[in-house]
Amino acid sequence: MERIRNFSIIAHVDHGKSTLADRLLEFTGAVSRRELKEQMLDTLEIERERGITIKLQAVKMFYRAKDGNTYTLHLIDTPGHVDFSYEVSRALAACEGAVLLVDATQGIEAQTVANFWKAVEQDLVILPVINKIDLPSAEPDRVKRQIQDVLGLPSEDVLLVSAKEGIGIEEVLEAIVNRIPPPKGDTQKPLKALIFDSYYDQYRGAVAFVRIFDGEIKPGMRIRLFSTGKEFEVVEVGAQTPKMTKLEKLTTGDVGYIAASIKDLRDIKIGDTITDAKNPVESPVPGFRPVKPMVYAGIYPSEGYTYEQLRDALEKYAINDAAIQYEPETSPALGLGFRVGFLGLLHMEIVQERLEREYGVSIITTAPSVVYRVRLKSGEIKEIRNPSDLPENWGIVEAIEEPFVLLTIITPKDFVGNIINLCQEKRGVQQKFLYLDPNTVMLEYHMPLSEIIMDFHDKIKGLSKGYASYDYEFLGFKEEDLVRLNVFINNQPVDALSFIVHREKAYRRARQLVEKLKEVIPRQLFEVKVQAGIGSKVIASERIPPLRANVTAKCYGGDITRKKKLLEKQKEGKKRLKQFGKVELPQEAFLAVLKVE
Ligand code: GDP
Ligand code: MG
Repeated sequence: MERIRNFSIIAHVDHGKSTLADRLLEFTGAVSRRELKEQMLDTLEIERERGITIKLQAVKMFYRAKDGNTYTLHLIDTPGHVDFSYEVSRALAACEGAVLLVDATQGIEAQTVANFWKAVEQDLVILPVINKIDLPSAEPDRVKRQIQDVLGLPSEDVLLVSAKEGIGIEEVLEAIVNRIPPPKGDTQKPLKALIFDSYYDQYRGAVAFVRIFDGEIKPGMRIRLFSTGKEFEVVEVGAQTPKMTKLEKLTTGDVGYIAASIKDLRDIKIGDTITDAKNPVESPVPGFRPVKPMVYAGIYPSEGYTYEQLRDALEKYAINDAAIQYEPETSPALGLGFRVGFLGLLHMEIVQERLEREYGVSIITTAPSVVYRVRLKSGEIKEIRNPSDLPENWGIVEAIEEPFVLLTIITPKDFVGNIINLCQEKRGVQQKFLYLDPNTVMLEYHMPLSEIIMDFHDKIKGLSKGYASYDYEFLGFKEEDLVRLNVFINNQPVDALSFIVHREKAYRRARQLVEKLKEVIPRQLFEVKVQAGIGSKVIASERIPPLRANVTAKCYGGDITRKKKLLEKQKEGKKRLKQFGKVELPQEAFLAVLKVE
């Protein structure tokens, strides 16, 4: 155990995490420069042939240090996006140290700070490293000062590297060996292992990536999952070197994988503890909490697909994605479908795309909505995952609460004015305004999550020419003055278009929404009336004039190929739409609410 080092590389996106990881693999001889390429090709080929994704979760390397000893290094990968921030924390809990990588041309950005604090919370030793020093625009001295001023890490501890050019790599490895402590633990104690990642393998079933804190684990052993009490028999243990390599056992301090013919990935909860079924530990690795989706949307089959097809696709998909949650729902407007919970918008996009591309169903997604909490006068608390579940009878409602986040923004100072305006518009309350250096400002806001999922990303990138970065974490629920906007098409309420909004914004949003719907709903042979209102009180209304003539009428007797093309085009457009009465609603109509401010 003295010669084991477990660490992660943490960074803002694009600061060079993957490139540095490749250099470490190459330097330690885990893979040669040529193999590094081949390795990637292999992976792609396997993915293509067998339809499985092999992602590096934890790589084992051996490093012969300057002190003459050979060390086992486990490099643990962390997911990069804010949607998966809980998983980052659990991956870090499997380490004793973290390499904090900062781009020499960009300096500290929002996820640099967010990930730094996650590492601090896990009591990790943090090695600050400035990357990309080969670039002419690199400013290592400025970034060093930022690291010292903002994160409080002494600038003499900062290493300078170019992951691309392979400069300073040995110094990073020496720092890992000399500054990060070895794992602690006791091989004689009962098994205690932390699950920090998982994936689904067609052959092995659900595979758990674990860090062993005490005891050992081998094939044949019966294990128990702490959160559910479910038991399984271990079939295989091993490590990624970086190929999946079987081992006789994993022992205290080790990082590796376990396969136990677990069929459903949802049985393997990230952050959960694995123990020996015959001799279980009393307390798990601390900090486990089940992930809770914060964003919900309805998913329905498009015209031409059935509920059963969608259900089968979702069931198959969910085996591969432990974070997704779903339950059937019925929408008066859309029929039978599912209410699906996601970790965030990116996660939702991934699910939507994979369902269509890999599982062959075309779907309609309703506008995503955050989870609301309704406190009833009776004292009961209801969780609202679908705006149409909000009680009709306001008399019984004490208050509605919505989720708030702590939002951190880092931006060049030139854009601060724009960004502050945006945050105010989005009901943000400023908590902090701090110069990281004379040119860079860090802002912190409390903001409703719903405002971030609307269109915050595009707005802030647009206002800052792409320079501002942001990150957020969930704070809690807070009471706000919220109402439901109902949408009517030809006087019929369309439940799937309704959404919850702050009362002060209701008029503006209603107006913008009906205008947007007018744009995206194709003209029909009859007039279509689009209205939005609070309760049954209409506050905005638009009319979509009827089509004058049949689209193809002009072509009769004329150019037959042109007519064909037109019909084909129509057919394509039909894939993602839903018939509502006589009106065809395209996918864009359901997402129109995201496009209003
Ligand atoms: P990640 O998102 O943190 O994993 O970043 P990547 O490793 O994918 O790198 C992002 C981009 O920066 C890629 O285009 C890399 O080639 C480039 N990059 C990474 N390290 C260096 C470096 O040391 N110097 C230069 N010039 N480019 C680098
Ligand atoms: Mg990467």
